[in-house]
Amino acid sequence: MNTEETDVLVVGAGVAGLNCALHLPSGMRVLVVCKGGPEESDSFLAQGGICVLRDEGDFDGYFEDTMRAGHYENDPDTVRCMIAHSRETIDELIARGVRFAREADGALSYTREGAHSRPRIVYHADCTGREITSHLLRAVRQCANVQLRPRTTMLDLVTDGAVCTGAVLRENATGRVYVVRAGNVVLATGGVGGLFRHSTNFRILTGDGVGVCLEHGVAVDHADYVQFHPTTLYTGGRGRSFLISESVRGEGAQLLNAAGERFVDELLPRDVVTAAIRAQMAQEGSAYVRLDLRTVRGGAQTLEKHFPGIVRRCRKAGLDVFSQPVPVVPAQHYFMGGVRSDLSGRTTMPHLYAVGETCCNGVHGKNRLASNSLLEAIIFARRAAEDIAVCGSAKGECSVDLAAYQKYARHERARRALVAKEVCNERE
Ligand SMILES: Cc1cc2nc3c(=O)[nH]c(=O)nc-3n(C[C@H](O)[C@H](O)[C@H](O)COP(=O)(O)OP(=O)(O)OC[C@H]3O[C@@H](n4cnc5c(N)ncnc54)[C@H](O)[C@@H]3O)c2cc1C
Repeated sequence: MNTEETDVLVVGAGVAGLNCALHLPSGMRVLVVCKGGPEESDSFLAQGGICVLRDEGDFDGYFEDTMRAGHYENDPDTVRCMIAHSRETIDELIARGVRFAREADGALSYTREGAHSRPRIVYHADCTGREITSHLLRAVRQCANVQLRPRTTMLDLVTDGAVCTGAVLRENATGRVYVVRAGNVVLATGGVGGLFRHSTNFRILTGDGVGVCLEHGVAVDHADYVQFHPTTLYTGGRGRSFLISESVRGEGAQLLNAAGERFVDELLPRDVVTAAIRAQMAQEGSAYVRLDLRTVRGGAQTLEKHFPGIVRRCRKAGLDVFSQPVPVVPAQHYFMGGVRSDLSGRTTMPHLYAVGETCCNGVHGKNRLASNSLLEAIIFARRAAEDIAVCGSAKGECSVDLAAYQKYARHERARRALVAKEVCNERE
């Protein structure tokens, strides 16, 4: 069978796609597809944590930190909306069973990262993303109206005139190409790291949502706003770069040059720290700088309790964080640009939504504040689901010449080149 029907097609199974599916009405048939396995999303990799408004008195500070990090290019209404919904979002995650670190009296523990004026990040050791996303995935699997279909790649959108009426999909294992006719399509395809040689992202994330929008004339904003994370482990090898979370610097880790001296305030925004590291590397003619974790407050005990994954990964690379600084280098990390979307995830094409890292709703401006992305993705995905519940479905034709997609490898290469041209004016 070459055509299927569903009420909502969600493309992507990271926190954005999953949370959207969870908030759609149970009376709607929902199909969630993802390119790789269900755990192959950047959402599973998030380490440091997720931001939350600590108390009403923190609103202005949180707003200002987000705007300053974003060089005041953020959309203030979107930022306010995210902050205002942050507490209820964390409460909802806790109600789903997500565990965050707690103080001895049971209150939530808060950590700090660069450019935050106070600790306001809740976390689960150094694998917050895995903790959150695995709970959302479990909840989705329990929804009778939601079908999760992994290893399925969206090749294209289907449109009737200017309206989105579905998508063309490929079953990766067999190469079978088919159409899903949908009342609404949600793009939650994540970032663009797979286009860069050095990135913390999964290699399969190649900006496909942005690509189909560029091809169909759907507005894409700030495609060149790409964030480089200052500290990924330098190994000299290839493949996905391992991130050393910003929260180790928030907890006191120091960046050192070849002479063992500090050369930058480690808690400045990411783009500023990245630029300082690159300048230092150029000055020394070296491929990396050093990050000393021995200055983390609470010493070895904190390292083992708060950052066990980082300690383990460094050990695997032959590095003992308790006795030596580790080599670090900036790598592509996050995409602030993307498919233009409003507070409800609507794009410029009717019945096409974009949520999570693939969209640009203006919340991050030119540079994302640490730990704002999980929060943003979860909140605006829910808002998109609420909008879909009330806005109705696309009505139109969904006919496609599938033969045109048989040469999908060539088609995907062309799209990749198109997105790369927009995004990677600075290749790593
Ligand atoms: C190492 C690392 C650490 C991070 N730490 C933090 C942190 O501490 N706090 C924080 O807030 N943020 C953090 N981030 C950023 C955050 O994890 C991501 O921005 C967020 O998870 C993105 O969620 P998403 O749902 O938009 O995309 P993803 O979680 O990346 O999911 C994308 C989905 O789209 C699917 N997909 C892509 N293309 C296609 C296609 N053509 N067809 C079908 N499916 C497709 C993929 O298979 C995947 O399921 C971190 C990121 C990384 C890489």
